[in-house]
Amino acid sequence: MWITHSAGVARAMAEWLVDGAPRTDLHGCDLNRFETAQLAPGYVHARSCQSFVEVYDILHPLQPAEKYRSLRTTPFYERQKDLGAVFLEAAGWERPHWYEANADLPEVAGIPARNEWASRFWSPIAGAEALVARERVAMFDMTPLKRLEVTGRGALPFLQTLTTNQVDKKPGAVTYTLMLGEDGGIRSDLTVARLADHTFQVGVNSQLDLDWLRRQLPADGSVQVRDLTGGTCCIGLWGPRAREVLAPLTKQDFSHRALGYFKGQQAYVGGVPVTALRLSYVGELGWELYTSAEYGRLLWDTLFEAGQSAGIIAAGRSAFNTCMRLEKGYRLWGTDMTAEHDPYEAGVGFAVKMDKGFFVGREALEGKPPSSRRLSCLTIDDPYAVVMGSEPVYVGGQPAGYVTSAAFGYTIGKSIAYAWLPVEAVAGTTVQVEYFGERVPATVAAEPLFDPGMARLRS
Ligand SMILES: Cc1cc2nc3c(=O)[nH]c(=O)nc-3n(C[C@H](O)[C@H](O)[C@H](O)COP(=O)(O)OP(=O)(O)OC[C@H]3O[C@@H](n4cnc5c(N)ncnc54)[C@H](O)[C@@H]3O)c2cc1C
Repeated sequence: MWITHSAGVARAMAEWLVDGAPRTDLHGCDLNRFETAQLAPGYVHARSCQSFVEVYDILHPLQPAEKYRSLRTTPFYERQKDLGAVFLEAAGWERPHWYEANADLPEVAGIPARNEWASRFWSPIAGAEALVARERVAMFDMTPLKRLEVTGRGALPFLQTLTTNQVDKKPGAVTYTLMLGEDGGIRSDLTVARLADHTFQVGVNSQLDLDWLRRQLPADGSVQVRDLTGGTCCIGLWGPRAREVLAPLTKQDFSHRALGYFKGQQAYVGGVPVTALRLSYVGELGWELYTSAEYGRLLWDTLFEAGQSAGIIAAGRSAFNTCMRLEKGYRLWGTDMTAEHDPYEAGVGFAVKMDKGFFVGREALEGKPPSSRRLSCLTIDDPYAVVMGSEPVYVGGQPAGYVTSAAFGYTIGKSIAYAWLPVEAVAGTTVQVEYFGERVPATVAAEPLFDPGMARLRS
């Protein structure tokens, strides 16, 4: 840190020590955020040296580290390399951002070019992958999404107490829920799948969630929390033709009537035992298919082969995380919302069930006055202007907020940005996003921009 930060750091440290949590979001500085492999002495040394060298550099938000790559690879890694995957790294995982094998898709030609900065670590192929997932079907490697198993006779009350939504549902139900701090700020967002009476599979954001859950464990041993991530893998099979790919591979019923949205079941896909959860962060029909790591390659091959007649492709993180997620308005914890925000202003108030009884943060939400800010959706007026995230936003010529996530939405043909803005900036308000010293005109839009009726998810 520098002289400029010193007083703020002192305040945050004091709050952390005295109150148990700082008032500013410091998840990026929390020592508990590291995965085990990231604590290896050689890794710490290499990353520290790199930070020192880069201290005055302007780094692209996607710029990957050069050393200590390929620490964690998924069971699909060899197949991904064969398809020309371009990997970037997160939490030690190699994650395909797009596949050069898709360069010949006719959709690539229609993808608008980007300026020099925005086109780094990006390819028009990512746009084509997003379009194919909307028009046909794509497989996304979701393995790095951290998942935990919460078991034991105390598992249900444990999750009910720590999260905001009603998770006391029948086995087979999946619930999107939030973990709050005592002050009502969003610690994380989770998907909780009840697999059996006392067994839950919980999709979390990072090691910080595991650390937090472990700290809250009851002393009587009635709850166990186990990190499943490395021993398992996941393929997101999504797109309007996803059922056409899956149905012939299994005897289980995957019709909408048998397995609705936010429902899960165990099944065999070909010879592979999977847990299938009907969720989609890209807003399309489909399932997250989980299996243990040794079946991963077979699951990939089975789906890829069966999907050929439906025009299946492997699609990368770039299509998933920004283009498709933002068209649907799905919030990314740590980027769009953090412990500094409450669920209502962040647009995830639907995941709070005040009538379910006690949960951590409930009292703070009860007493909270209406917020003066809101996570808002913007469309950039010039379809070729792309911002990257973290830029200041001006309303009426005055700085009024900042961009969290931004991307081009290929299905809607518009550049999208999410930004924290005053509540007065309602849909239709014109604003400006400052990008490299220029003020780029944008308009506040009603969200989500794609399929607001959720017809595609529920098909
Ligand atoms: C050589 C050098 C050059 C730098 N150049 C720059 C620069 O050009 N620009 C810039 O912005 N930053 C620069 N920095 C960094 C900057 O100086 C620090 O980030 C900043 O001073 C940190 O402020 P602080 O108040 O957090 O801690 P400090 O300034 O370190 O203050 C901590 C104080 O606590 C006292 N203390 C420690 N333990 C105890 C205790 N147990 N009881 C009572 N008191 C205690 C210490 O004596 C000290 O006075 C430089 C640092 C160094 C070392």
